Amino acid sequence: MIYAANFKTNHTRQSTKNYIVELNEKLGVKKPEDSVYIFPPSSALDVYEGNFTLGTQNAYPAHNGAYTGEIGVEQLDEFGIKTILIGHSERREYMAETQEKVANKFSFFQEQGFEIIYCIGEPLAIREKGFESVMQYLLAQFDGIDINYDKLIVAYEPIWAIGTGRSATVEEISTTHRALKKAINDKPLLYGGSAKPENIKEITSITGVDGVLVGSASLDAGSFSEMVLS
Ligand code: PEP
Repeated sequence: MIYAANFKTNHTRQSTKNYIVELNEKLGVKKPEDSVYIFPPSSALDVYEGNFTLGTQNAYPAHNGAYTGEIGVEQLDEFGIKTILIGHSERREYMAETQEKVANKFSFFQEQGFEIIYCIGEPLAIREKGFESVMQYLLAQFDGIDINYDKLIVAYEPIWAIGTGRSATVEEISTTHRALKKAINDKPLLYGGSAKPENIKEITSITGVDGVLVGSASLDAGSFSEMVLS
């Protein structure tokens, strides 16, 4: 299983260091077949020791240059970071990342050989229209995306389940993952949306779920490590 922690705009450099110390202590006994990813805010990127992969929540598709407020490959290289989240619904919505922008970013980081956790998800209005509408909406988020990229991991994150405390049901996750797995040629597929210690076992037991992308419940090292060790 893959367990990925997305801190979003939470944690400082110091609290990230403390978090990693605690996580390392707790994850000493993690199953060797499980992988852990940590995505801290850009200001806390660094070289950390531990049994996990450090990734960036975002970067600009350039090595360096005049892109005020952004970081590029040069800044990620300093810390040996080769993993990136692309397409998160919060970036699509708040940073107005269109499918075209997301696809350009994907292509750039693919060319750089990055491992990409590519996020897709539908809003509640689409979920309420039924499964066919959901799949149509989700598949459109693969426009311009090379689903055969060997370092691709997909994260299905229904927007209405993110940060709301209300996870999708087992049935919703199961049917959506089954259909998505076919569409992405069986690439690793994570679920994201209010995954937490209380529901992690139920979620990771679903066929077609290869792991979880966790926001809120990942902010505490104790809660996140409990999920990893579940
Ligand atoms: C996310 O935003 O990737 C996420 C899954 O958040 P949460 O776990 O808080 O729903």
